[in-house]
Amino acid sequence: MERGARRSRCHLLSALLPSEGPAREALRGAGYRRVPERLHPQVIRFSARGFGRFEGSPALSDPAAWYLTWSDSDVVRGERPRSRAESAMRNGLSIDVEEWWHILNLPSTPTADRWDALPATVERNTHRLLEILAEGKTHATFFVLGWVARRYPDLVRAIDGAGHEVACHGDMHDLCYEQGEAAFEADLRSARETLGDLVGGPILGYRAPGFSILESTPWAYEVIRRVGFEYDSSVFPAARQHGGVTDAPRDPYEHELSDGQRLAEFPMTVAEWGRVRVAFAGGGYLRLFPYPLIRSGIRSANKADRPACVYVHPREIDPGHPRLEMSAGRRFRSYVNLTSTEPKLRRLIRDFDFAPLAEVLRDRGLLSPAA
Ligand SMILES: [Zn+2]
Repeated sequence: MERGARRSRCHLLSALLPSEGPAREALRGAGYRRVPERLHPQVIRFSARGFGRFEGSPALSDPAAWYLTWSDSDVVRGERPRSRAESAMRNGLSIDVEEWWHILNLPSTPTADRWDALPATVERNTHRLLEILAEGKTHATFFVLGWVARRYPDLVRAIDGAGHEVACHGDMHDLCYEQGEAAFEADLRSARETLGDLVGGPILGYRAPGFSILESTPWAYEVIRRVGFEYDSSVFPAARQHGGVTDAPRDPYEHELSDGQRLAEFPMTVAEWGRVRVAFAGGGYLRLFPYPLIRSGIRSANKADRPACVYVHPREIDPGHPRLEMSAGRRFRSYVNLTSTEPKLRRLIRDFDFAPLAEVLRDRGLLSPAA
């Protein structure tokens, strides 16, 4: 068996229908996907959940009827939910819904009093992301700024209405460690209330702007729980400019709070290259690294029973968006390979199973089941 195939945790059937047969043709409309050609063709696999009405067909239930060829490489993926024991690992997909000027720690970052007058892009780019996810039959978590939600309430309703998870990215995109405890709490309460009113239910997840929860802000997790969130996704377990908790766990885990409560954490995904932790699955890192490296990093994480957390910003699928003034180094990090984000996102959705972060945390028993 080929290495990639062994890594798969799917409950899969090793099966192949006649390459031009009517059954295969019929499967095309039901989530039929290509797998990379380098996969060993003798372990062509169909995900059991994808069969739908074909599941009981004689052609699938009788291995003698399977027809294997060297060159074929197709896989079917469908909608029917699987239990964790029989499923491929689900990874977390997240979108930080903010504008093109919400880049932190720059002299040119406009102050909030100027935001209303700037050319806006977040609404249209988020709608495009919704279309891309709909095409890929994938759901994600959208961490929305309170400010964005007040300006575009219909956008939040559209995200929620399409079956995605609406979560919170704070209110005004301020850095946690610059706010202090009281201002941080006020910011979170305002944003959570705005978002909760729009979706008509509790908002479970929070992500700090710039992953700005540090070892120096231990009160932040207490505040997040006190405001009512059930999980956080702000920990960046590697060195980084605005954030970074370099020795934090790489797996989803729980913060133990001083009052005995717990807060689930879905950290960003990093690879370990020797003793160095390197991010590859979101933002500038996702844009910078070639797709095969990203895919291999997520496969390695999944092989270690670790779901990946991928994050994208709406501006990153819009290479024509306005730019802020900044140094050459920051310009590289902020804008490198913008044209690669959308193709990489489409490939990720095709190559891996993704779900909203809350669902992945439930898969792992870190969040109580949905009401
Ligand atoms: Zn942000």
